[in-house]
Amino acid sequence: MAHVVTEPCVNCKYTDCVVVCPMECFYGDDRQLYIDPDDCIDCGACVPECPVEAIFLDAEVPDRWAGYVQLNADRATVLKPGGARVTEKQPRA
Ligand code: SF4
Ligand code: SF4
Repeated sequence: MAHVVTEPCVNCKYTDCVVVCPMECFYGDDRQLYIDPDDCIDCGACVPECPVEAIFLDAEVPDRWAGYVQLNADRATVLKPGGARVTEKQPRA
């Protein structure tokens, strides 16, 4: 189990979510943020911080965004070695 960032996150750079994560498991690229499922402890702290409700428990991701479960895992794997971890709120581009 892990939490997953979905479609509404695309182009959001508010990143309110990352500040509260005790595991620092958010990664980002030009598109959106992703949660590393290996590090997420399902504390749920990030969910109410996201103003567009982009974050769900994997088992509760809406069907239309089901592909984001694998996408988060895949992108976190790719981004992790490159140091794309996001732990501080970013200025909105
Ligand atoms: S606050 Fe929500 S939309 Fe913004 S970066 Fe975090 S998960 Fe994405
Ligand atoms: S559920 Fe908790 S551990 Fe997982 S990404 Fe959100 S704040 Fe981090």
